[in-house]
Amino acid sequence: MEKDIICTVCPTGCTIHVVGDEKSITSIEGFTCPRGKAYGEAEFLAPVRTLTSTALVEGGDSVLVALRSAGPLPKGKIMDCMKEIHALRLTAPVSCGDVLIPNILGTGVDIVATGNVAKL
Ligand code: SF4
Repeated sequence: MEKDIICTVCPTGCTIHVVGDEKSITSIEGFTCPRGKAYGEAEFLAPVRTLTSTALVEGGDSVLVALRSAGPLPKGKIMDCMKEIHALRLTAPVSCGDVLIPNILGTGVDIVATGNVAKL
């Protein structure tokens, strides 16, 4: 398997070409600094993403609250995490930093509120 990965660590946007399989890398080129090499390796072997979204809130001064994952989640689990988030029905008040879903899908990562919704 081989992949061209655009490095997003800095604005230069180097294209990193990686060859290997799910467990190891046999060749990596195109990076121009050690941070880019580390990014290319991680993105090839275990890509992760920080998730941001909103959830419904009942009884508050807003019907939605912003949220995010407290850390990076495996890219392959993002869609299933979004389903969990869309099923949420919160009740006001919600405060920034509240843990809305602890350890989502057993990833060890919490989903936390990044906004406030006051109770009406
Ligand atoms: S490889 Fe290095 S220089 Fe190139 S985009 Fe990534 S961080 Fe920037």
